[in-house]
Amino acid sequence: MPTFDLIIRNGTIVDGTGHSRFTGDVAVKDGLIAQVGEVRGDAAEEIDAAGLVVTPGFVDIHTHYDGQATWDQEMAPSSWHGVTTVVMGNCGVGFAPAAPERHDWLIRLMEGVEDIPGTALAEGMTWDWETFPEYLDALEKLPRTVDVGTHVPHGAVRAYVLGDRERPGAVPTADDIAKMADIVEDGVRAGALGFSTSRTVLHRSVDGEVVPGTTATAEELVEIGRALGRAGHGVFEMASDLMREWNEFAWMGQVSRETGLPVTFAALQSIAKELPLEEQIATMRAENDNGANIVAQIALRGNGIVMAWQGTVHPFRLRPSWQAIAELPWEHQKARLLDPAFKAQLLSEASDFSEVNQDIVGLIMVVCGGWTMQYEMDEDFDYEPQADASIAARAEAAGMSGDEYAYDLLCRDGGKGFIYLPILNYAEGNLDFLEALQNADDTVNSLSDGGAHCGTICDAASPTFMLQHWVRDRKRGGKLSLEHAIKRQCQDTARLYGLEDRGVIAPGYLADLNVIDFDRLKLGKPWLAFDLPAGGKRLLQKAEGYVATIKNGEVTFRDGVWTGAAPGGLIRGPQRAEMAEAAE
Ligand SMILES: [Zn+2]
Repeated sequence: MPTFDLIIRNGTIVDGTGHSRFTGDVAVKDGLIAQVGEVRGDAAEEIDAAGLVVTPGFVDIHTHYDGQATWDQEMAPSSWHGVTTVVMGNCGVGFAPAAPERHDWLIRLMEGVEDIPGTALAEGMTWDWETFPEYLDALEKLPRTVDVGTHVPHGAVRAYVLGDRERPGAVPTADDIAKMADIVEDGVRAGALGFSTSRTVLHRSVDGEVVPGTTATAEELVEIGRALGRAGHGVFEMASDLMREWNEFAWMGQVSRETGLPVTFAALQSIAKELPLEEQIATMRAENDNGANIVAQIALRGNGIVMAWQGTVHPFRLRPSWQAIAELPWEHQKARLLDPAFKAQLLSEASDFSEVNQDIVGLIMVVCGGWTMQYEMDEDFDYEPQADASIAARAEAAGMSGDEYAYDLLCRDGGKGFIYLPILNYAEGNLDFLEALQNADDTVNSLSDGGAHCGTICDAASPTFMLQHWVRDRKRGGKLSLEHAIKRQCQDTARLYGLEDRGVIAPGYLADLNVIDFDRLKLGKPWLAFDLPAGGKRLLQKAEGYVATIKNGEVTFRDGVWTGAAPGGLIRGPQRAEMAEAAE
């Protein structure tokens, strides 16, 4: 009998706590880290990590795999980027509780808010649950490459309680609010890691309605927060436009002070937010100085729309010539798009904004011709592009109109060209503002939205981006140390959700690990795959350099290829390390 199940030898260990790296071995037994340092003994398998970096598995707390996790074991694309734990059910959307007659409605909500194809959800999900605890039981039946934890989503809870009364502006009675709070309490007691809500005009169902809860009063939110307090654990997560009149930080502060639990919100530079990011952070800090525990979720790059002819969004969608071919199969569309006469006709037309909702018309105008904010995505694309890489600049250099340059760009590679439009977090044309935020302990790495925005965004690769750009390649400003970056993506994210059993390489912690060829680490170009149920599309992005990813001691990915192992399960509630030595 070998002493251990697995030994990783001679790696450069970055242990997730922020401590300096050191060279050593990591031995694994029964799914846990057994020894770190110089390991004697043998193992069923050894991985030679000389010259490679060994880190804890990444913990991604902001994903939307709520549907996918019920049918998919691989959990791409997050699992391709070193992630071994995902928390889903964010932003108030999810699939439980679900009255039987509400299935399609919940799907349309998810499709609208998170751009996950409704046909894929309808075909992929079995709906063998009604209550939130039954949904957890259903999740538990399917093993996966990663552990999943979830929030109770406000949208589903509200629709469940209010039924047909649920519509924008609906005012729940005190009895309704008490029922919602009970459902949340039951869900959290059954193992949810928190509760989530959405308060942004950008989040709409495919029918154009804002998410239930968008117009909830502070009273409703505080009552639900108290339900988490009664259950004794849980994180309150929110995506909000942070309108001044809503005074969100006051009730967030109240909830966290009353319950002693963390409240976390998406902190972005957003055209939909009234409060500039600096003011969001300053207001949060004023509440925290007053005993609150509010944590800002930050994205590590411009939150972008990736546009392609076959994507959900591209700049020419509102031109009559595109509208005429919008429903045709791709091969027919492609033939037309590559026809010079069709191109000339389309470029002679103006976009028709008459059907666009007033709340988002400014955004749509940027999509349809804001060439100074749009960038060409090539093989070596830099996610912190300079102004001279914009379509406006490149078109001018080429002596073309922005329209024509963008059209030709989308037609590249047989119609598979991409345009990047960072609508959030890129107002200043650089990421300098994220330097200080990534060094603050009241912010957390987040907003990858893994599993969501299938036809528009692919930020599930955030952990890879963090290492490649913020630690290794950034030239336009400061960088992060490898130790600090890994801590933020491992121990810090895990601790926010009470997951004290992971995110650190020390004896007693879960053997969730990455072996990374750091010098070779590189994001690939995104591509559109049509591999969801019913042929649903999604943007995917791979990376080179992940030599091995290990979950509960089993190798799940080797050089980016799934081994077929599925040791991940459902996380129920906060977790403590089994026999962890003080890793601080
Ligand atoms: Zn989200």
